[in-house]
Amino acid sequence: MSEESTLVTHPFLDLPPMSAAHFASIEDRVARLLGTEQDVVIMQGEALLPLEGAIRAVAGPGTVALNVVTGPYGQTFGNWLRDCGATVVDLAVPFHTAVTAEQIRAAFAERPEIDFVSLVHAEAATGNTNPVAEIGEVVREHGALFYLDAVASIGAEPVLPDAWGVDLCVIGAQKAMGGPAGVSAVSVSERAWARMAANPRAPRRSYLSLLDWKERWVDAGRKALLHAPAQLEMLALQACVERIEGAGLDAVMARHAAAAAATRAGAVALGGGLEPYVYEAREAAPVATTLRVPAGVVASELVARALEGDPSLPLAAGGGAFAKEMVRVNHYGMDASVGVVQGCLAALGAALAERGVAVDLAGARRAVEQSWG
Ligand SMILES: *Cc1c(COP(=O)(O)O)cnc(C)c1O
Repeated sequence: MSEESTLVTHPFLDLPPMSAAHFASIEDRVARLLGTEQDVVIMQGEALLPLEGAIRAVAGPGTVALNVVTGPYGQTFGNWLRDCGATVVDLAVPFHTAVTAEQIRAAFAERPEIDFVSLVHAEAATGNTNPVAEIGEVVREHGALFYLDAVASIGAEPVLPDAWGVDLCVIGAQKAMGGPAGVSAVSVSERAWARMAANPRAPRRSYLSLLDWKERWVDAGRKALLHAPAQLEMLALQACVERIEGAGLDAVMARHAAAAAATRAGAVALGGGLEPYVYEAREAAPVATTLRVPAGVVASELVARALEGDPSLPLAAGGGAFAKEMVRVNHYGMDASVGVVQGCLAALGAALAERGVAVDLAGARRAVEQSWG
């Protein structure tokens, strides 16, 4: 027997090559999900690929960027912008709140030369969500190019690049879309394409390059791909969008909103000093809920204990400096369910009770049920 004869077919392997037409049809589906007429380019990598690619495509030494920091991703964007030679005006707001359109307007008044705005829509890491529709109006009035990270909002709340005047809207499949990490997409306005074409520093002949896709894929009628597509990821993205279409995008978003509201209500009812991290419910992201732990409790330790009972619960401590004070309930994708929310609060409640904190487990349970309706 030859060695080859021991190989058996496998559903992830032995895939036929993906055609350009198939690839284009997945882009069209993503465009429908975003309700956009703009070009949608699928980037075959984790969402950081289009996030970085889009900034490097449009930013250069002549750029004056207003970089809104409402969580860790805003800090990353500021670093890329500075790396591109842009002048960066950071607008940082406390992570327990959202930025307002008024703050954006005030920043333009102070620095009228701002010609680019970077914003994260929802922050899975800090649990806030920003009023993009209102901000978009102000940005459009001013005429700046508008870049939006909608990775954590797509599927959890409306993301409407055309209605909001977003020039570069980046999404990823791994949060509320319930898909895998490793696929992402960006919608690109005509204005954004023009800015890239005029930017001598925009990556060309590079895996980071959006212009390559414009020139060799979009403008060429989407007939031939630039390189072999990552079939496995592309099939997963297609399946993920199909599943959302099947359930209905509105229903998927409603389920995320219900999970966020129930987590918030349940945490308040649980008591013991566990509090919503984002003060105002309307500024709390439907994708994930962040909670502040009571004084004397270390969030990362509480989460570790809560996960001992059920490691499948989508609980995490905050990143970096937040590991002490913040618990994240990542109720997104399939985890946007009443059972998962109940499980998370029960596990956190039990871990708090063990530390001698008085909590109302039954009250939390009832509050989640009532909130879910
Ligand atoms: C999850 C997320 C991303 C993707 O980055 P990873 O850290 O690699 O998952 C980008 N932006 C936002 C706002 C996200 O929540």
